[in-house]
Formats: sequence, structure tokens, C-alpha cells
Amino acid sequence: MTAASPGIGMTSLRTRERLVDRLRAQGVRDERVLARIRDVPRHLFVDEALATRAYEDTALPIGNNQTISQPYIVARMTELLLEGGNLENVLEVGTGSGYQAAVLSPLVRRVYTVERISTLLKQARQRFHALHLLNIRTKHADGGEGWPHYAPYDGIIVTAAPQGIPLGLIEQLKPGGRMVLPIGNKAEQALVRVIRTDEGYSRELLERVSFVPLLGGVG
Ligand code: SAH
Repeated sequence: MTAASPGIGMTSLRTRERLVDRLRAQGVRDERVLARIRDVPRHLFVDEALATRAYEDTALPIGNNQTISQPYIVARMTELLLEGGNLENVLEVGTGSGYQAAVLSPLVRRVYTVERISTLLKQARQRFHALHLLNIRTKHADGGEGWPHYAPYDGIIVTAAPQGIPLGLIEQLKPGGRMVLPIGNKAEQALVRVIRTDEGYSRELLERVSFVPLLGGVG
């Protein structure tokens, strides 16, 4: 980058470290996750016009009425997923910009991510390619159905909110596998962690969150 090129300030290590400090202050503890938040170039996951805001702890529009999640939420959900130990394979429902999958990519063996809007998925694929994130596989489909071909998963992360726990997704978890997801309607949502047990599943209700709804079909 030359001195004249835009973005040198917004992408500087200082700016990114400020964001990491903020997430740490909010209780994110997993250093591997914090290092990913520092290292993944979030400004490449949003429109150029919004790039100056990429290292603020805020959700931003990505087109098609969708948003890239707030860094705090991405970090928190990733941390909740990783607490179970080493994860072989993780399914993400709702690729969106691809940012969450990019954060997760080197922390697990394989990421499978499903998106229902093809234009978003196409852009996300280009980003994975440009950043050499080779362990991410993508699919254009209704993620509410999961991705049965690669099931069962050690972890599932859902980045759009269903009204209730999608039982079909629990069936794609290994015993002991975990799913982190927002549940609720537009007005009120909670972050939930579900663990598959031999008998069924257990769930923990965590903090309040605000996600776009999980929709049916493909866009
Ligand atoms: N993880 C994303 C967040 C994107 S917002 C990121 O890091 O940027 C949620 C995404 O879920 C949107 O792109 C939306 O189109 C997608 N989505 C909603 N319902 C879906 C469904 N049933 N299957 C797949 N994707 C879905």
C-alpha cells in the first residue's frame, strides 16, 4: 500500500488491536479467537464505502437486507463453539459475508457453510479464495435443512434466528456435539447453546442478541 492509498488508517494494527481490547473487556477470553479477530481483514468483507467502519464493534449491512454480525457476537459464538475441545467439522448456517467462517477456518479442521442468497455466497467464495482459506466448503441451499452429506458435525453455528430450536439440525450433530444459535423473533432473541446427548439434547440460555431471521427456501 502506498501512503496515498485509502484504508491505511482503518486497517492498521492499532485499529484492530483496539477492537480486540474492547472484546476482551466485554469478556471474550479465548486468545485464539481474539487473534483471529485481529488478523482477519474485516474491511474486505463489507462494501468499500463501509470499510472505514469495519473495525467498529457493530453489525454492518452487506446488501440483500442482510448484515455482517458484530465482531463481539462472532467472537462470543466462536468461543462458545470451541469450548468443547478440538472440532473436526463445523457446519455454519448463513454464510452472509463469509466473515464468521473466515474467523473459524484455522480453528477447526473443516468448515461447511450454507447460504440461501446466491449473490452473497458468490462474494463470500471469492473472499475465501483470496484469503487462501482452503478448508471452507460452501453450498447454495436452505441451511435449515443442514448439510446432511457431511453430517454428523462436532459443531453447528447458526447466524440467522429461527423461532425455535431446529430439531433437524440437532440430528446432524454427533453425540456431545454442540450448536450455538440465536432463537426468537425480531423483537426478542437469545443466544442458546445446545448440546446433543444420548437421550436428546440439553440447552443453555445465554445473552440477548439481535440477528436477521432464518428464512426458508433459497433466495
Ligand atoms: N455469518 C454471517 C452473518 C450473515 S447474516 C457473516 O459473518 O457475515 C445471516 C445470513 O443468513 C444471511 O446472509 C441470510 O441470507 C442467511 N440465511 C437466512 N436464512 C437462511 C437459510 N435458511 N439458509 C441459509 N442461509 C440463510
